[in-house]
Amino acid sequence: MRGCAESNTHMADTALRRYIFASDFDQTLTFNDSGYVLAELVGIPTEEFERKSKGMAKINLVQQGAELAYLLLHDPEFKAKVRKEHLREVGKRIRLKSDIKLLYELLASGIDGHQFDFYVLSAAPVEIVQSALEDIVPVDHIYGTEFCYKPSGEIDTIVRATAGYGKVAVLDNLLLRQVAGPDHVIYTGDGSSDIHVMLHINARDGLTIAVSESRNVSQIAKRTVLSTSALAVLAPILEEIAGWERYRIRSFFEANGMLIQEWERVRTDWLTVRPAEPNSVESITTPKLVSADS
Ligand SMILES: [Mg+2]
Repeated sequence: MRGCAESNTHMADTALRRYIFASDFDQTLTFNDSGYVLAELVGIPTEEFERKSKGMAKINLVQQGAELAYLLLHDPEFKAKVRKEHLREVGKRIRLKSDIKLLYELLASGIDGHQFDFYVLSAAPVEIVQSALEDIVPVDHIYGTEFCYKPSGEIDTIVRATAGYGKVAVLDNLLLRQVAGPDHVIYTGDGSSDIHVMLHINARDGLTIAVSESRNVSQIAKRTVLSTSALAVLAPILEEIAGWERYRIRSFFEANGMLIQEWERVRTDWLTVRPAEPNSVESITTPKLVSADS
């Protein structure tokens, strides 16, 4: 089927081009946040966890996404109740998106001359991610927040938080170890903990994929894909990196036993509209002078 000229270029193309595929964990490979599952497991009301976690995020004391790590280290209730074994149990309880194993295998075996090394970069405690992805992603491909523990299993100190800029640091290390340019990086994530790393990758011509409509990431990511299957990220990867058309991507999914049932593409414009009265603008831009002793 292939013409001569095409088969020559095909030969040149067959040299594997290596990419790093890095994925967030909470709400990217799962349906919920591990912090909520952990709170529930140790008997802390989820509303209480949410209140503390959101309060932490609001004051910007720690890297975005490291709120749970901070609570585990410093909140008396979390500190008293959480042990290492709870973290592993959370990994068993958390609901994973479907087809992560198939995604891992397809990426690892290479697609059309492109090979992808699958890594997970998560702000969650590493024990949670390792336990959840046991037999799916090798332990040395998982980077999460690491703690030191007391012999009792109680958290003692923190080694590293893989949140916010912490994800950039891990990724830079991976790039140093692997013979790949910074443009050979694909990152997928859903939330505020992913902003730093996505901006970093965009600036170096890598591919960023948001898996939620959350405004802070979908505005930054080059592509957004929403699905309950982890495999869906293959669609933008094959389009952007392998340059495949839709029909080819559909056949690839089918050849691997999966059917793309629906594939809708929408462009979303986010607008905030407010009255343009001169008075309302003035009230924002002109500070009123208030006498100190009034
Ligand atoms: Mg997340």
